[in-house]
Amino acid sequence: MKQKIWLSSPHMSGNEIKYIQDAFKENWVAPLGPNVNGFENELAEYLNVKNAAALSSGTAALHLALIILGIKKDDEVLVSTFTFSASVNPVVYQCAVPVFIDSEKDTWNMSSELLENAIKDRISKGKKPKAIILVYLYGMPAKISEIMQIAEKYEIPVIEDAAEALGSTYKGKKLGTFGTFGILSFNGNKIITTSGGGALISDNSGYIKKSRFLATQARDEAPHYQHSQIGYNYRMSNIVAGIGRAQLEVIEERVKARRKNHEFYQNIFKNIEGIELLEESGKDFYSNFWLTTILIDDKKTNGITNETLRLAFEKENIESRPLWKPMHLQPVFEKYPKYLNGISEKLFKTGLCLPSGSNLSEADKERIKSVIIEVFKN
Ligand SMILES: *Cc1c(COP(=O)(O)O)cnc(C)c1O
Repeated sequence: MKQKIWLSSPHMSGNEIKYIQDAFKENWVAPLGPNVNGFENELAEYLNVKNAAALSSGTAALHLALIILGIKKDDEVLVSTFTFSASVNPVVYQCAVPVFIDSEKDTWNMSSELLENAIKDRISKGKKPKAIILVYLYGMPAKISEIMQIAEKYEIPVIEDAAEALGSTYKGKKLGTFGTFGILSFNGNKIITTSGGGALISDNSGYIKKSRFLATQARDEAPHYQHSQIGYNYRMSNIVAGIGRAQLEVIEERVKARRKNHEFYQNIFKNIEGIELLEESGKDFYSNFWLTTILIDDKKTNGITNETLRLAFEKENIESRPLWKPMHLQPVFEKYPKYLNGISEKLFKTGLCLPSGSNLSEADKERIKSVIIEVFKN
């Protein structure tokens, strides 16, 4: 069997072990310590945001954002339907109601037109939504100005789910820094990884202070253990934060490598009829191209579909994957309100995520290219 080529696998810089050794040397083997503080400061500096809290996952970050915004039972939260379930689960943890908003065709992210329709409709039904969770899939910025304009008009706070978009920018500003909160993920398959982890970012210092308090079991100030609210165990460990610090040192290289992968695929597909890549729609949009993604129009490819290509890759031990299945089609979420235009369903039906790790070798790329050439040779 040929060696497996993964969709997106961890890519260490080599310095991780140094930070981990420091933690061991000083016995900071705990969910706090110099690596946690260092990682938070370095992350905030990189993003040009006032504060960052290092947490156990992106999901935990989103959960805390909702709690701090006061989201509670039966409140409605507007969420992109074209996303990973982790964007929605924390809404349900709060016993609140996710309201799904479909995509627009240029960025595949939330449609501002449907967003405004939904807000008006929810208000007419007597229920003003309490928050918007705006997701940036595959690293691609949404049409953020349009979304923020609507959010401001109706005074609804925005949480940016930038789990896939660290290093991407919109109008030169880093994603995750436009809304009241941004969340990031450092899971094993993301653009940088701490094995597992996440961060909550915000310019509001009070909110981030609150998030650290809630993430460490909501202990009031007292010599004994005193609690006046429900807390969580959501802090990042000092070991894991050491990995994050070393990963952050190479983030720009990682973004460059992923953008190079995207160019590699552009060059292969430019001569193949019926394939469309997700592209930046103008100079305001700068994607980290976490994953390169394509749509296949089988009417133009002699019946070759996304599944044909996926299976051909699989036979060569190369991982590719369908696009996210929209949340409104998931059995667990299908009962919730939704505002649709058919776009996310079409993306799911015809799309594919291609191997996009920043550690793909030239030999890996040759193997990937030969599969594509073979599949589309006629
Ligand atoms: C990975 C991911 C998350 C969740 O992050 P975890 O760190 O795995 O909890 C949330 N939203 C999106 C869009 C993601 O891709």
